Amino acid sequence: MLKSIHPYDQAVIGEFPLLSAAALQDKLDHSARAFKQWKKTSLSYRCELMLKVAALLRQNKEEYASTITWEMGKILSESLIEVEKSAKGCEYYAANAGKFLADEVIQTESRRALVAYQPIGTVLAVMPWNFPFWQVFRFAIPALLAGNVGVLKHAANVTKCAIIIEEIFREAGFPEGVFQSLLIDSDMVRAVLESDIVQGVALTGSEKAGSQVAAIAGANIKKSVLELGGSDPFIVLPDADLDLTVKIATQSRMQNAGQSCISAKRFIVLESVKDEFLDRFQKSIAALKQGNPFNAQMTTGPLARVDLAEALARQLEGSVKQGARLLTGGTYSGASFQPALLDNVKPGMPAFDEETFGPLAAVITAKTEDEAIMLANSSRYGLGASIWTRDLEKGERLAREVESGSVFINALMKSDPRLPFGGVKKSGYGRELSELGIHEFVNAKSISIA
Ligand code: NDP
Repeated sequence: MLKSIHPYDQAVIGEFPLLSAAALQDKLDHSARAFKQWKKTSLSYRCELMLKVAALLRQNKEEYASTITWEMGKILSESLIEVEKSAKGCEYYAANAGKFLADEVIQTESRRALVAYQPIGTVLAVMPWNFPFWQVFRFAIPALLAGNVGVLKHAANVTKCAIIIEEIFREAGFPEGVFQSLLIDSDMVRAVLESDIVQGVALTGSEKAGSQVAAIAGANIKKSVLELGGSDPFIVLPDADLDLTVKIATQSRMQNAGQSCISAKRFIVLESVKDEFLDRFQKSIAALKQGNPFNAQMTTGPLARVDLAEALARQLEGSVKQGARLLTGGTYSGASFQPALLDNVKPGMPAFDEETFGPLAAVITAKTEDEAIMLANSSRYGLGASIWTRDLEKGERLAREVESGSVFINALMKSDPRLPFGGVKKSGYGRELSELGIHEFVNAKSISIA
């Protein structure tokens, strides 16, 4: 049984039986049949349907946003932004898929040579609860426009979102079976990936889930794209515009109650600006209001589950035991966790070495720029990063030294459909979004005519 529990008060808001093995097989067969037709449809038709998805998302955004907030607890205004972002993703790819998927003619000695981007079949998405709409659309929009069909195994705590997303595709006119939500648990993912019908998997989630699912994909010679955790550095140089820096530091770490893979998590601050930054950052975090996510006065909702708050508390306590200084917040009750600030964080502490998935900011002092880069790269993760300086040339030079999939200078690190999104090291491999994202699940077929 899959259970949806409202994180703020732990009320059970939905229970959904798991699919039987036979029902799961039916869905996979359905998906194989749908692919045979879907791959023959024109791209302009697929784009037309995707624009209907965008329209539905906008039309019903209040309803969808409140389901997100009920199931995983982010504040309602953030849920609305998430639904809007999903609609924009549809529109971006509807406008650009033609260019991205066009045949690429290549000069060789033959009469004509080209690369044709063709769909591969059914692709599985294993998705998390932190952005229960956006993460799914980020996968599904390019995958379906490329002519693939999708099956979704969503996180166990956001089943209503999974059901609604399937309904949105159906209502927009996507043929039955082109996008299906499978109500299965993580143990049933193996059977899906081992099925000959399924050709690949995209997973967003923890390192552990990514490694286990990619191992099954590898054993079955299937493509995987992994978007895993991050411990993004946020590097503050002495010439940074501190008003903007502190504002975005707070937003980046605390939005979605800190449950984002690309939140800034390690604030690496040059010694000469450290005291002033810390003082302002502390005030900014202490001013946040943590509480009921449906109350418009709140800036921060609860975490999505009680065990996530407990895990964050363990990371905080472990860091304090090793010498970190707690400056504000850090208490919790149920899934509600007071936004917290730790100073004096160092390598070896959980707040430095591990991904902290909640409202906990860790400040680390660096003596020099070189040391700041060394600290930024002293992480098993490499998803995003940001650098704060008025010297843009220096910012770009340092950006090239950071081991991560993206670096933003003087701006909030965020995903943008126009830019590739993904990581290096334990943050995963492959790219989502942009042209690279739509090419992940296609057969780049070379055709050469002598
Ligand atoms: P998980 O990685 O466990 O969950 C993400 C998705 O993977 C869910 O659909 C989950 O299913 C599924 N999953 C987990 N293990 C397996 C498996 N062995 N085989 C198949 N599917 C699997 O995240 P958690 O919810 O447990 O969060 C734990 C930590 O993961 C967080 O604290 C954070 O550090 C990180 N995380 C990172 C995210 C990111 O955006 N990069 C997103 C979410 C979490 P089910 O829900 O049924 O377990």
